[in-house]
Amino acid sequence: MRVQNERSETNQCRVTTSGNLLSLWLSNIFVQYATPPSLWECFLMPLMRIPYTAPLPSPTIIPASASTLSGALTALSDFLTAAPSTNRQSNGKTVILSGAGISVASGLADYRGSNGTYTLNKTYRPIYFHEFCANHEARKRYWARSYLGWTNLHKSRPNKAHYAVGQLGDLGRISTVVTQNVDSFHPMAHPTLRTLELHGYLRSTVCLSCRTEYSRENFQKDLSDLNPAWSAFLAEMLESGALSTENPEERRRRGLKTNPDGDVDVPGVEYGTFRYPACPVCLNSPPDGTRVEQDTDGAWLPSSTAGILKPAVIMFGESIPNPVKVAVEEAVDEASRILVLGSSLATYSAWRLVKRAKEQGMPIGVLNIGGVRGEEQFFSSLPSDGSGKEGVRCSQPLEEALPALVERLMQGTSLPVSNDRSFQPAPWR
Ligand SMILES: [Zn+2]
Repeated sequence: MRVQNERSETNQCRVTTSGNLLSLWLSNIFVQYATPPSLWECFLMPLMRIPYTAPLPSPTIIPASASTLSGALTALSDFLTAAPSTNRQSNGKTVILSGAGISVASGLADYRGSNGTYTLNKTYRPIYFHEFCANHEARKRYWARSYLGWTNLHKSRPNKAHYAVGQLGDLGRISTVVTQNVDSFHPMAHPTLRTLELHGYLRSTVCLSCRTEYSRENFQKDLSDLNPAWSAFLAEMLESGALSTENPEERRRRGLKTNPDGDVDVPGVEYGTFRYPACPVCLNSPPDGTRVEQDTDGAWLPSSTAGILKPAVIMFGESIPNPVKVAVEEAVDEASRILVLGSSLATYSAWRLVKRAKEQGMPIGVLNIGGVRGEEQFFSSLPSDGSGKEGVRCSQPLEEALPALVERLMQGTSLPVSNDRSFQPAPWR
């Protein structure tokens, strides 16, 4: 199904309850299509970020020789260096699609790995976009948890796998990295290799009214100023080491749960006291027909009708901006093959990109520990005794396999070094 959802985020924000949002959403679809899609199809709309928590199948390694690290490296090397198909025009390079699994070695939890959020915390439910837009209490809760989680995320850094992706780019093998991750590790590790951040990024906040972006780091300082008791609580947590351990089990023992979107869950904490600032631009000059009010300390007041700051990530239930959608589809279409790194493709907006590649006859590679949504249909036509040229499915730790793959591909050559280290801005900024 190809349902195009072109409604703006601002329009969605005018909806005040989840029931209304669903009704508006469905009615928009039904107006556009003579034959209404099923409710299930509606939930598979391509441009919304929707969580998927159903169990995934165990991987079938293809070719069978890729079950060892050495065999996997041979298959991946064959995959990346195969001659492009002559049936379609392409750039001869590979587009990467990465997910939370590539950041696990940086100390961040993924969703479905052995220490993943959905694995350890069965009741975890991320905030949905319409809740954030419509509900002051939900925003207080979100920002309180984000405030505590930011410190750990902010000091985390890219790992060997991210840098190896950059080196594969330097070797001329990669055209674009599409990432579902919001940690900015890809653009940090390889600023000259183009990264498209499918689900946005936590490094900025963005105003829902005027779309101005601000530094998340500076926002953290504003939150500290507005919430001195929370600031003291955070200092206490940092002092105890509860926020600094990289071990999710240890964090849990200390009463903390860190989620992939960079927030922390602290059982028993009262979120209602948390305060957050208004957008400075809207505060100085409210958009026509709106008002933006703050208390004497500078906290946004619920009597306001604009100036709400949101993390610059695509929240669950939020539409991916059209420029991003177009850019990632072009990145897939121009490439000769697609390689998935550290993703179970559980999010439909990512899964559909691999499906798109499959429909164009592109070879598909998947390097992920654990199952991948719908993988049987991606590899059904491949023989188990193939070489990896037509496709590869293996399950090795990325931070081991990717640097070794770079070494394998570099045999007898020296790695070209890029001098341009400028940070790559997101495509819609
Ligand atoms: Zn604003």
